[in-house]
Amino acid sequence: MCRELEYWLRYVCTRDVSGRPGKPGRASCGGFFLVATAHLRAATEVAKTDSGIPASGSRGVLADNFKETPYWWDDAPAPELPVVEPPRIVDVAVVGSGYTGLNAALETARAGRSTLVLDAEQAGWGCSTRNGGQISTSVKLTVEQLARRYGAERAHAIHHEGRTALEWIEDLVDREAIDCDFHRKGRFHAAHTPEQFTALASRVEVQRREGIEAHMVSRAEQRSELGTDAYHGGVVYPRHAALHPAKYQNGLLARVIGSGAQVATYCPVLDIERSAVGFTLRTPHGAITARDVIVATNGYSGALVPWLRRRIIPIGSYVIATEPLPSGLIDRLFPTDRIASDTCRVIYYFRASPDRSRVIFGGRVSAGEIDPRVSAPLLHAELARIFPELRDTRVSHSWAGTVAYSFDSLAHTGIHDGIHYAVSYCGSGVSMASYLGMRTGQRLLGRKEGRTAFDDLPFPTRPFYSGTPWFLPAVVAWYRWRDRRECARAAGGTG
Ligand SMILES: Cc1cc2nc3c(=O)[nH]c(=O)nc-3n(C[C@H](O)[C@H](O)[C@H](O)COP(=O)(O)OP(=O)(O)OC[C@H]3O[C@@H](n4cnc5c(N)ncnc54)[C@H](O)[C@@H]3O)c2cc1C
Repeated sequence: MCRELEYWLRYVCTRDVSGRPGKPGRASCGGFFLVATAHLRAATEVAKTDSGIPASGSRGVLADNFKETPYWWDDAPAPELPVVEPPRIVDVAVVGSGYTGLNAALETARAGRSTLVLDAEQAGWGCSTRNGGQISTSVKLTVEQLARRYGAERAHAIHHEGRTALEWIEDLVDREAIDCDFHRKGRFHAAHTPEQFTALASRVEVQRREGIEAHMVSRAEQRSELGTDAYHGGVVYPRHAALHPAKYQNGLLARVIGSGAQVATYCPVLDIERSAVGFTLRTPHGAITARDVIVATNGYSGALVPWLRRRIIPIGSYVIATEPLPSGLIDRLFPTDRIASDTCRVIYYFRASPDRSRVIFGGRVSAGEIDPRVSAPLLHAELARIFPELRDTRVSHSWAGTVAYSFDSLAHTGIHDGIHYAVSYCGSGVSMASYLGMRTGQRLLGRKEGRTAFDDLPFPTRPFYSGTPWFLPAVVAWYRWRDRRECARAAGGTG
């Protein structure tokens, strides 16, 4: 979605209120606000019908034992760690205990640095136990788009990192013997219009020349991949993979603790200050002195590091799990057991659960942030649109999490004011958060393999942006409206 965010920001900066193109660079601050307000007002009108409370009948989609917690937590709850006083002095303090923080801590602890991981909540409470478990290269921009910004060499290097992350995570899971239902059966990325199918086909041509495995599947053959006629064919990426997010998180946590690192849960870091020996981290349980600090807080970063706050766009993402389905039905819907997603601007992503008993279905179904009880029927309606056979299937779990986008749709890692960070995976961080976490740990240790193609990239912000994405409801409403119109047109409706 975020390639579109950047486009939108450019759009409001270069158009007048009537929507006509203006001269690039013409917008003044006052003009910016006028335009933004007008767009916001227009989109809020759309949002009223887009994110309101669902029709009363739709509450019937919730199962009797409905839960507002991630489905993954049933199988793999976060372990209750003993409450310990955090040590007063450590070599490395890692803030955030998700995939980024744990992979960084694994490197530093195994290198013999005393390492403390702190989390404001239970271990893995953030996105790392809430995601869809879909694994891709996590690089959203094309080589051409990146080359225009950074030159061809850097563009290829960034794509290479994405492919490395996608392969590396399987090695990690194998090497660490983490039992997390990892499988590499590929992804079906579905076109929501015939035009998108054509666009995917040309992109795949380029990707194949770059050595990426991919093949197109026509609409006529689509049911061999996915039990739906809602799409217009798509592309298969056979190297994409899947895992059980919470089992992966808990396995990593066990390895981190086994490596000698300490983990302090329910211990928010309130601020970080430079000190004579490194940094002082203030927590409700006392101050901690650390020679080095890694910030791994992603969508939950808040105000801890104001510089990051101005660069991270926190966005809610929503998922449901269905009640168990008959095995024949899940075999019809997911005959190849691949993960799936689509080309909508506000994408839907879905898969069978690891035991192939349920469908896990995610997407952003509202303009503003909403409660999982409200998102459940909205997601169910989209699920039933794509898979009409699931119209009467109820929702057993509905949950949300906060991902981090950047204004340039890229992940970012580096050092700012002496603090290491790795953030902004733009909703696709299972492999990339893990990989950049690992590289951040290596960089802190001064190892040359800790350098990545993401290092030293400019990390943009926008004027007047201080961490609250006031523009988001308008952007999401606008994109959802365009997606719907295109889907309706492609299906033969009027749109
Ligand atoms: C609903 C949803 C679906 C997703 N689906 C996919 C998917 O299918 N595939 C994919 O690749 N990616 C997906 N993602 C994204 C992916 O989960 C994330 O990119 C990844 O987990 C980020 O890991 P992280 O460790 O950087 O952050 P997180 O796992 O979010 O961890 C950050 C931690 O920092 C802690 N924290 C914050 N501030 C402080 C503080 N001041 N002091 C102490 N602790 C603090 C938080 O409590 C939190 O536990 C999804 C995300 C969501 C929410």
